[in-house]
Amino acid sequence: MTISPTIREQVPLADLTTIGLGGTARYLASCTTPDDCRVALEFAREHSLPLMVLGGGSNVIFSDEGYPGLILRMEIPGLDFAESSRMCQVTVGAGENWDDVVTACVARGLGGIECLAGIPGTAGATPIQNVGAYGQEVKDTLDSVNVIERISGKELRLSNTDCKFGYRSSRFKGEDAGRYIVTSVVFRLEQDGHPRIRYPELKDAMTRGDFDSSLTSGEPALNQVRKAVLRIRRSKSMVIDQDDPNCRSVGSFFTNPLLDPAQFDAVRQRWVASGRTETIPAYPSPGGIKIPAAWLVESAGFPKGTRRGKVGISEKHALALVNRGATSSELLAFAEEILAGVEKTFGVRLSIEPLIVSHHNEETRP
Ligand SMILES: Cc1cc2nc3c(=O)[nH]c(=O)nc-3n(C[C@H](O)[C@H](O)[C@H](O)COP(=O)(O)OP(=O)(O)OC[C@H]3O[C@@H](n4cnc5c(N)ncnc54)[C@H](O)[C@@H]3O)c2cc1C
Repeated sequence: MTISPTIREQVPLADLTTIGLGGTARYLASCTTPDDCRVALEFAREHSLPLMVLGGGSNVIFSDEGYPGLILRMEIPGLDFAESSRMCQVTVGAGENWDDVVTACVARGLGGIECLAGIPGTAGATPIQNVGAYGQEVKDTLDSVNVIERISGKELRLSNTDCKFGYRSSRFKGEDAGRYIVTSVVFRLEQDGHPRIRYPELKDAMTRGDFDSSLTSGEPALNQVRKAVLRIRRSKSMVIDQDDPNCRSVGSFFTNPLLDPAQFDAVRQRWVASGRTETIPAYPSPGGIKIPAAWLVESAGFPKGTRRGKVGISEKHALALVNRGATSSELLAFAEEILAGVEKTFGVRLSIEPLIVSHHNEETRP
């Protein structure tokens, strides 16, 4: 009889993350069913170990010391389509590769997630920070999330409203961080979907028509958008490509700050007082005025391609910090230098997007 899930000891974490950093995990359980997750929870409880859920490792940085507990690697498969007249309910196992899910939905003519093509990681992680790109966010089409509550072991279904989504945030990243294991995610997508292209860069790319001829060869519109998004993302090293050293990152390291009018005014005054005349790019958004973090970083003296030893900023994207053979401490020291530089120039403390996992902030015990 095989015991499921397999629990391995002393597993190198760098190989399980896109940025390739971190020491070893004391234990790792590869979970392909909700029951596996319960066994992993029980193992952690019995051995008084901290536990953390890991998907594709594209938004996590582990410390050089590694993780002293159990990593629950989410590998639950499944992709189920239930069609009704105009909509299709798509239930996705949390361990499915997100980009494959987008490709499969687009191939069936299901609209609503085509702009989210190329985002690395698993489907189960998409609600954690309400992933978004090119004018779409998962909250726009997410119906509900199936979870196991770690403390009780109970299976619950949380509605879209229950998830408390915001810009790159949700209850899973906020007040309830570490409380739930997402086992599947349910989307409601439009049948025979028509893309709604809101994002100016994508709109330009679609109208310029300077893409492969396949984009204008009568393919369904959703797939044209998916391909255009992938093409833009590739040009910024924002898809995973083993041959591109700029991809050894967690994507955007900082989120765009949302300021109230008084805070925005203070930023502007500081900028003008320093003798600069360029207009600060600012976009009214729900929750405040959004300033692109990339602009703040570059304007504070950290242009694309900046290097500090074996870490640096991507040559193609000002928000991606790249590991060029460094340690986590070196990367985090560089991140701190950027944070301090932006704060000194603009009086704004940027927020870090990925989860930084150290011995000191291990997730809650089950
Ligand atoms: C090149 C690149 C480009 C990127 N572009 C974008 C982008 O355009 N937009 C965007 O929003 N993000 C982007 N990201 C960030 C990242 O891909 C997303 O946040 C993604 O959803 C993370 O998925 P993951 O499976 O790798 O999660 P992980 O990195 O493994 O985990 C991230 C967090 O989610 C938790 N978690 C993961 N799975 C579960 C689960 N099943 N249950 C409970 N908690 C869970 C983890 O504990 C951790 O806190 C990019 C990253 C890279 C490397």
